[in-house]
Amino acid sequence: MAREFDTDVLIIGGGLNGLSMGLAAAAGGFDVTIVDAIDPKTAGAEEFDGRVFAIAFASCRMYEALGLWDELKQDAQPINDILVTDGRVREGASPFFLHFDHEEIGDEALGHLMESRHMRKVLTRAVLDHDRITLKAPAKRVSSAADPYGFTATLDDGSSIRARICLGADGRGSPLREEAGIKTIGWTYDQMGIVTTVHHEEDHHGIAQEFFLPSGPFAILPMTGRRASLVWTERTKAAKALLGLPPERFLEELRARFGDYLGEIETLGPVWSYPLNLILARRYIDDRLALIGDAAHGVHPIAGQGLNLGLRDVAVMAEVLTDAARLGQDIGAQDVLERYQQWRRFDNVSLSLGMDALNRLFSNDLPPVRLARDLGLGVVNRIGPARRFFMRHAGGAVGELPRLLKGEAL
Ligand SMILES: Cc1cc2nc3c(=O)[nH]c(=O)nc-3n(C[C@H](O)[C@H](O)[C@H](O)COP(=O)(O)OP(=O)(O)OC[C@H]3O[C@@H](n4cnc5c(N)ncnc54)[C@H](O)[C@@H]3O)c2cc1C
Repeated sequence: MAREFDTDVLIIGGGLNGLSMGLAAAAGGFDVTIVDAIDPKTAGAEEFDGRVFAIAFASCRMYEALGLWDELKQDAQPINDILVTDGRVREGASPFFLHFDHEEIGDEALGHLMESRHMRKVLTRAVLDHDRITLKAPAKRVSSAADPYGFTATLDDGSSIRARICLGADGRGSPLREEAGIKTIGWTYDQMGIVTTVHHEEDHHGIAQEFFLPSGPFAILPMTGRRASLVWTERTKAAKALLGLPPERFLEELRARFGDYLGEIETLGPVWSYPLNLILARRYIDDRLALIGDAAHGVHPIAGQGLNLGLRDVAVMAEVLTDAARLGQDIGAQDVLERYQQWRRFDNVSLSLGMDALNRLFSNDLPPVRLARDLGLGVVNRIGPARRFFMRHAGGAVGELPRLLKGEAL
């Protein structure tokens, strides 16, 4: 006879997607266990991760529905406008631009900028306080086995956990995906994302800027106070050279791209770098297993959508599991897993490839391509419905939305 279950839903990986998944599944009435290889104290520390995420308004609504928004918003900067321009280093922007103003589609901000470490702290605390969730960290999953009734994972301390379903939120390199033999497609970009925070003299008024330079996008993301997070994409070789510069020279290069529209700038704290690649799982499911977040799709950060795609997986998975349980179905059954895969795969693949195309279109300096894209920016900017379509996309409010992304209870 099969062993009793220790938990309903086992989540391997306690990054932002894994933690959010745990909270959403618990809100759906399930007992959840999250396993993560990193000590939560390390993951929440200032030096661990410098990323600041543009969280789309649909994702914010999910956190509201889960009762987490009041705490998250304390460190969140609303994005009121997004300005997209094209140009060259030291030459400034071309006269064509695309301007997204949140007032065109309603009262809500287009999204919020949130520091990864703050999100982790809030989500980890909520997980630890939840009586239906157990967090095992630091603990590493080393092997697993699925049978017709459940999924059993073995951890590095020799213990094992048996669940009705396992959700793989173990990141781009997903060992669970590998072990299940799920193939991927993808490529590396010969680009790195340099991430740092600057302090500036003037108020940013909640305006995010995406400045397309020949080596890749340079994003200026407004943070609380007179601070901005930069995601500065460079060719790998150039990025390594920039990272090796003394701080004064690094700041000079940074100023040449940032410009002076916010007055004087100075860097605050460390500089992080992330190699950029695209990786898409060919399927999201296996026996009693489903992949969510970067384990299923790791994308280019060009439009700040990577985590948002993962949070959509979370909202859909929570709804699929809850509905299955309400109908008395086995939550790890193949048809339940397939419903999740069907709902999510098209959206993820189309957005990932869209971001890839955008990166290719903008990360070059060929005169005819420059002209075409500048004209494209100018045209979209003049057509109201096109502008609003892009804004709704950026806000994550398109397609078949699960209840949580509409701000509704499960
Ligand atoms: C430069 C840059 C900027 C970005 N900006 C944005 C943005 O503005 N907006 C946005 O939406 N997205 C953005 N992204 C994307 C976003 O960072 C990722 O999509 C998101 O962090 C992925 O989260 P995850 O929880 O799926 O994976 P991860 O954060 O990678 O978490 C995986 C977890 O799994 C754990 N794990 C792995 N193996 C095991 C194991 N064997 N046992 C136990 N635990 C294990 C790890 O410890 C880790 O905690 C950006 C990415 C980059 C690189």
